[in-house]
Amino acid sequence: MWIDTHCHLDAVEFASEEDAVAARAQQQNVSMIVIPAVERNNFATVSSLAHRNSNCTYALGIHPIFVPQAKEEDLGAMRVAVEAAMNDARFVAIGEIGLDFFIPMLTTPEMREKQEFFYTEQLKIARDFGLPVLLHVRKSQDSILKYLRRIKVIGGIAHAFNGSFQQAEIFIDLGFKLGFGGAMTFTRALQLRRLAATLPIESIVLETDAPDISPAWVHPQRNSPEQLPRIGQVLAELRDMPLQAIAQITSANALAVMPRLGAVI
Ligand SMILES: [Zn+2]
Repeated sequence: MWIDTHCHLDAVEFASEEDAVAARAQQQNVSMIVIPAVERNNFATVSSLAHRNSNCTYALGIHPIFVPQAKEEDLGAMRVAVEAAMNDARFVAIGEIGLDFFIPMLTTPEMREKQEFFYTEQLKIARDFGLPVLLHVRKSQDSILKYLRRIKVIGGIAHAFNGSFQQAEIFIDLGFKLGFGGAMTFTRALQLRRLAATLPIESIVLETDAPDISPAWVHPQRNSPEQLPRIGQVLAELRDMPLQAIAQITSANALAVMPRLGAVI
């Protein structure tokens, strides 16, 4: 069994093929896919995908890239949506939330402040409902960690992790797993492959981030959750471990950090 801990199945790249893509992933033993929301307007979409496909679950959140157009009232609406979703077994986490200090239009002083406001308010929602968070971290590790120390959530996943060993250690101490995917399949990604090879195996979860971050053999075509086992194969080779063990351990790690997944698997 494999778990894709981060897949944007609602993205326009999958339009009208979502159910077929989920079914093909299932045939590859991808028994669970977590679909994070990106803005208030797609909360209903990710929920409906998770209810239509037996191997899908969802998270609710406002992604930093969608913060410019987000309104403060969206946070109130999100809290209401999360409260209602607590009775929904297919709802497993808060996400995708975080800080993006890479995209130039998101790094003006006002936009940094707005991002930090949305990030911290959503951390509070996660804390109040005892939910894990799926984090988008891009050139923002220090600020992400600063607020995680102040607002105590149960843990979560640093998605598409690409930091230092020291930062990895801090995330792990705060109850986080580190998400690895297509980026580590490129032989030139030396630092990332070193991290994947040597971080404690208990701290690693797998993800595709489809339709983005295609693995080397798919690039530049659209990524898809059915690629997850082959991405797992790369991790198995990097760590010199049997494929079976990688599938079993990374799935157990995903379940440990998103306990609500246990109710639907
Ligand atoms: Zn994402």
